[in-house]
Amino acid sequence: VAPEVRELLVSRIRDVPDYPKPGVKFKDITPLLADPKAFSTLTETLADACVEFGATKVVGLEARGFILAAPAAVRAGIGFIPVRKAGKLPGATLAESYELEYGSAEIEIHAEDLAEDDRVLVIDDVLATGGTAEASLQLIRQAGAQVVGVAVLLELGFLDGRSRLAPTLGAAPLEAL
Ligand code: AMP
Repeated sequence: VAPEVRELLVSRIRDVPDYPKPGVKFKDITPLLADPKAFSTLTETLADACVEFGATKVVGLEARGFILAAPAAVRAGIGFIPVRKAGKLPGATLAESYELEYGSAEIEIHAEDLAEDDRVLVIDDVLATGGTAEASLQLIRQAGAQVVGVAVLLELGFLDGRSRLAPTLGAAPLEAL
């Protein structure tokens, strides 16, 4: 990403201290979404990544990942597939569970949306511990498709999600601003 693009995008992300609980600095992307120049620049950047990686499908992670991934998929001329929290998809699903700080979570994908020859780019807003992204990669693998990369707007380096993702990602790149 060009330095001026990074600067524009970063300037539109708001840090909200102690949200949703004390000690967490929440990265709020709503100012970026409300700025048409920043949002279209981000969409273009993500669509370029789709083309660069030869992606045939874009997977967006609920919920803010949907907002970033869907327009990028349209712009790149490829399909969009939502990964949702368990119980939200009406069709036959594949499921993966993963551990959270307290308890666990489960995410799902519609099995029929991915074909074995699909090359998938996964998009989300923030990579924190990497648990959600890791589970989504496993969903895509379960479907027999290939992951060509993960693109996030922001990576919270101190949580080192990158290391957690590395074994599952293999040679596929993790792109962050
Ligand atoms: P994780 O599974 O820990 O990588 O968490 C990733 C998910 O939680 C992403 O879908 C993010 O949208 C959200 N998330 C985690 N930490 C933050 C944060 N500090 N600010 C905004 N979103 C966050």
